[in-house]
Amino acid sequence: MNSTIAIDNPVRTQAIVNRYFVKAKKNLGQNFLVDHQAVMGIIEAAEIEAGDQVIEIGPGIGSLTEQLLLAGAKVFAYEVDDSLPEILDNELPAKIAGEDLASRFKLLLKDILQADFKADIGDFFDFSQPIKVVANLPYYITTPIIFSLANSDLNFVSLTLMMQKEVAERLEAQPNSKDYGPLTIAVQTQMAVKLALTVDHSSFMPAPKVDSSVVVLRPLAKKIAVGDVKHFNRVVKMCFAQRRKTLNNNLKNLISDSDRRAKIIAELGLKPQARPENVTIEQFVELAKLITA
Ligand code: SAM
Repeated sequence: MNSTIAIDNPVRTQAIVNRYFVKAKKNLGQNFLVDHQAVMGIIEAAEIEAGDQVIEIGPGIGSLTEQLLLAGAKVFAYEVDDSLPEILDNELPAKIAGEDLASRFKLLLKDILQADFKADIGDFFDFSQPIKVVANLPYYITTPIIFSLANSDLNFVSLTLMMQKEVAERLEAQPNSKDYGPLTIAVQTQMAVKLALTVDHSSFMPAPKVDSSVVVLRPLAKKIAVGDVKHFNRVVKMCFAQRRKTLNNNLKNLISDSDRRAKIIAELGLKPQARPENVTIEQFVELAKLITA
């Protein structure tokens, strides 16, 4: 049943929940957005314009999907909950300004982590044109989703993603801060990170325990060349194994010779007492190279 009240309105969401006996599935990270300002904040952060090709992950009952469609985007959505297509079919507007929405919205029941973008979307999107990914993510798989998108063949211009606030802070952290770590480094070698807005937990139904943030990730024009990615990530991870200890201490498992460790730390321009959080991404790249050498 279509309505003039937006799906992101708590009254409308509650009506949908009652009508279809929706029970938010915790194991699928289902927390539906019921805050129009927050939804519009996501649309604005993603700079959605009419004609944009948008992949949405987890449309739920459609609060974000509806506004993407109203903003003129063409939306392809991945969802795993098979009770939702019927609800979306009934509740999303059938027409916008006289236009039949079937040509602008497609839903695929598929785990986003199993996506084969060209095969799934090839006949709906023009892959020579920019593609944006927009989502209020299922938080239990936030980082696997980010890395599977980053390492996919999808030539996206931006990922605008709502996630747990603490994860967002780790993504956009700078050296010398408590949030700076392996996740920060793995992401920032590939993408520029911008924190767009923070959303209170009361903006969701049901309300999660944590607050949320929307982050915009854009591929770097030139990715930071880290050499062998597996080796680089392993070095970074081992350096942060005990983040309160010095870099020298953490490096013991990688370089047993204490003179060599001291020499490498000096060569990187770091103080002997430096901690892993004091090491910039460029210095980690250099460190990984020196360890291989
Ligand atoms: N977009 C809706 C909103 O903002 O109200 C719902 C967001 S809810 C936080 C996350 C959504 O992701 C749910 O609809 C859930 O069923 C879906 N989901 C969970 N795991 C998924 C997966 N592996 N692939 C695709 N969608 C998934």
